[in-house]
Amino acid sequence: MSYNINDKGYYGEFGGAYIPEMLYPNVEELKDNYLKIMSEPSFQKEFKSLLKDYVGRPSPLYFAKRLSKQYNTKIYLKREDLNHTGAHKVNNTIGQILMAKRLNKTRIIAETGAGQHGVATATVCALMGLQCVIYMGEVDIARQAPNVARMALLGATVIPATSGSKTLKDATNEAIRDWINNPEDTHYIIGSVVGPHPYPDMVARFQAIVSEEIAWQLQEKEHKNTPDYVIACVGGGSNAAGAFYHFLDHTEVNLIAVEAAGKGVQSGKSAATSILGKQGIIHGSKTLLMQTNDGQITEPYSISAGLDYPGVGPMHANLYATKRAEFIAITDQEAMDAGLELSKTEGIIPAIETSHALAVFKRKSFSPNDIVVINLSGRGDKDLATYIDHFNL
Ligand SMILES: *Cc1c(COP(=O)(O)O)cnc(C)c1O
Repeated sequence: MSYNINDKGYYGEFGGAYIPEMLYPNVEELKDNYLKIMSEPSFQKEFKSLLKDYVGRPSPLYFAKRLSKQYNTKIYLKREDLNHTGAHKVNNTIGQILMAKRLNKTRIIAETGAGQHGVATATVCALMGLQCVIYMGEVDIARQAPNVARMALLGATVIPATSGSKTLKDATNEAIRDWINNPEDTHYIIGSVVGPHPYPDMVARFQAIVSEEIAWQLQEKEHKNTPDYVIACVGGGSNAAGAFYHFLDHTEVNLIAVEAAGKGVQSGKSAATSILGKQGIIHGSKTLLMQTNDGQITEPYSISAGLDYPGVGPMHANLYATKRAEFIAITDQEAMDAGLELSKTEGIIPAIETSHALAVFKRKSFSPNDIVVINLSGRGDKDLATYIDHFNL
């Protein structure tokens, strides 16, 4: 049994491409070409060279000595927070902008919620000199002013989505409408392992550099190329997909996916998608999503903007359904405490998304000889105001 995608674009029963007919040519063009393009030596060469010299890879695999002592186990931090732009998202946008160029696209669109994916997309558009249009809910534009300013500095046009709840799903609808109207010259950069096939697989492959590096870095440090545990937070699921990728079919490696419980899984203010979700279709893919009994998508909630998503990618829905990964839901409070602890114990201020993964140590104990890798998906600078408010600093 493989936990990776099959040739029909499904992970078990999840995935596929449930899209309006008018979008069919765009998605089909990508589906027919992405694997071929990615396997070209010239593509791999350019991708690897930008990851090295522009993003700053390989990111360190750091043995967290004081944190390990605290929890009596061996904890390694995969430092995606040290990437250019401060998180893992750029691995994917670099890959997709190169894909867009190979497909002769000159214009890039994307949707963004908190603005992190918008910034990562605007960054690579500036790098390549391509036109960049970012759709963002009007409400999110007001909430995320610094990221809107970053996108403007990077030369992107930010278009407000003014329909519905004026948040992420409305921005997604606008982006899809744009793509339908501009099939020839435009590539749509999706920011996580979500959306219609082939996006979840393509994004997972770009993020797979994370587990590729973990394997050889562990070989150097521990003389074995697999850890006992890999722990990552899950919004849409891209940083977790990257950290799990090369270990998916090594069932001796335990995978832990951490979702946001918000104010508590049963509080009505949560983003614990796998635990609360039911099968349904969101963003063109069959997956688990939070919905009412009659199938309306419910608004998710988390203190961290990056985990505040009502669905989860199809790879993770399958990891949940097959129990290949353990899913743990962490509350706002637990995450904030874990973020503070890492700051004081290791001198690293994590993104609040990442803090959810770190909170697992208070829930679960590990053996002294276990090698536990945490994917440190991003840095906490963007979350300073939230930390200040929460702890009255
Ligand atoms: C966006 C983001 C996430 C959540 O997205 P995934 O696709 O689930 O990885 C997690 N951590 C950080 C730092 C982010 O910016």
